Amino acid sequence: MKEKNLLVKNARIIDPAGGLDESGDILVAGGKIIKTGKDIAAAGATVIEASGLIACPGFIDLHCHLRQPGYEDKETIATGAAAAARGGFTTVCCMPNTSPPLDNAATVGHVKDIAAREAPLITILPAGCITKGRAGRELTDMAELAAAGCIGFSDDGSPVSSARLMSLAMQYTASLDLPVIDHCEDLDLSRGGHMNDGWVAARLGLKGIPAAAEDTMVARDIALCQLTGARLHVTHISTKGSVELVRDAKRRGLGVTCDVTPHHLTLTEERVMVAQAGTGTALTYDTNARVNPPLRSSADIDALIQGIKDGTIDAIATDHAPHTMGDKLCEFENAAPGISGFETAFGTLMALVHTGRIDLNVLIACLTAGPARVLKSAAGTLQPGARADIALLDTGREWTVDVKDFLSKGRNTPFDGCKLKGMVVATISGGRFAYSYSRKIYNIKPVNEYLG
Ligand SMILES: [Zn+2]
Ligand SMILES: [Zn+2]
Repeated sequence: MKEKNLLVKNARIIDPAGGLDESGDILVAGGKIIKTGKDIAAAGATVIEASGLIACPGFIDLHCHLRQPGYEDKETIATGAAAAARGGFTTVCCMPNTSPPLDNAATVGHVKDIAAREAPLITILPAGCITKGRAGRELTDMAELAAAGCIGFSDDGSPVSSARLMSLAMQYTASLDLPVIDHCEDLDLSRGGHMNDGWVAARLGLKGIPAAAEDTMVARDIALCQLTGARLHVTHISTKGSVELVRDAKRRGLGVTCDVTPHHLTLTEERVMVAQAGTGTALTYDTNARVNPPLRSSADIDALIQGIKDGTIDAIATDHAPHTMGDKLCEFENAAPGISGFETAFGTLMALVHTGRIDLNVLIACLTAGPARVLKSAAGTLQPGARADIALLDTGREWTVDVKDFLSKGRNTPFDGCKLKGMVVATISGGRFAYSYSRKIYNIKPVNEYLG
């Protein structure tokens, strides 16, 4: 099928990888970026008038859960990809804690087949398990998983508690030149805990998880990274201590990278506590604010933001973790941890820009060039020849989160009803529209056959 060329006109083009922040046009042909610049003319191209909008590379998410196979009541690859596109993401790395888990080539191949068939517009990159069945006892065949297309290894949802096994895993991942995507949690310290250890937990009578449960594991795995020469990617970093450890490891030249989630940057442990409906004064908890690692303190948020500013933190990753209503409509202790995060990521993060805490270019770098670097991927840029993955953003547009509008099956979010300022207007993947907001408001005409 001959595809029409696309011409994005008069956008503010921000491409951190290419060092670009200027107004101009982007010409797309054959699914690739042809050029960016001023007053590009292209006869016959579909023109997208983007004045007032930012055009940047499609976002890359290093950490999400698409739940298929096994948990299709929470999410499928198709619904997850649609939600990702709505969030501006064109590349997502899905974690292997499915059922069965992605601990062998056949299951990885199955996921890739479904992705190619049902979500062809989004690049879906699976991570493989570190241990068989994520049981923490026996390593998977990592070479086989790498050959099947895994972009890294993780037992996410669980840590690898045995230091000996983790060091062995890192020897293999080092030889494959793929990262370990590390869920850092010392289960001895976190056991029985459900939220951050602090005054809110005490007030609600919930057992806390100390920051040290994360810090000790980050410290251990940095030591193992030094021992083995592996690439260590600490995911969903949440504590001041972890940020300091990663900063120090980078200073020492180790191959350590890390990401932080939008919720750990924007919400504190206080969000767990809500007024009980009808009473006005009595306090209760909101299971939608239960995540692992837990929401931390404002001092942790300050350290995370400092980590983003000084380059200690490479990427912002959603840890999109959709669940059913039933998974959350229960006691806090029994609620499944996680937030359905694709569709609110950009809007919530923009609050940090509007309040002057993070520079817009730095934010976009953390969603594009930063994660691309972690993956050693050619995506995440608008330079000529790159795949035409483009997000169009309206940083000033206000909207109210309504979970009933979610494309994700997971409606579990503490942001429901929140007023956000900043919206993804359209997502173009490989030169085709994967998502567009209102054609009436933005006059953007989707040109692919999926949206009509
Ligand atoms: Zn995790
Ligand atoms: Zn996760």
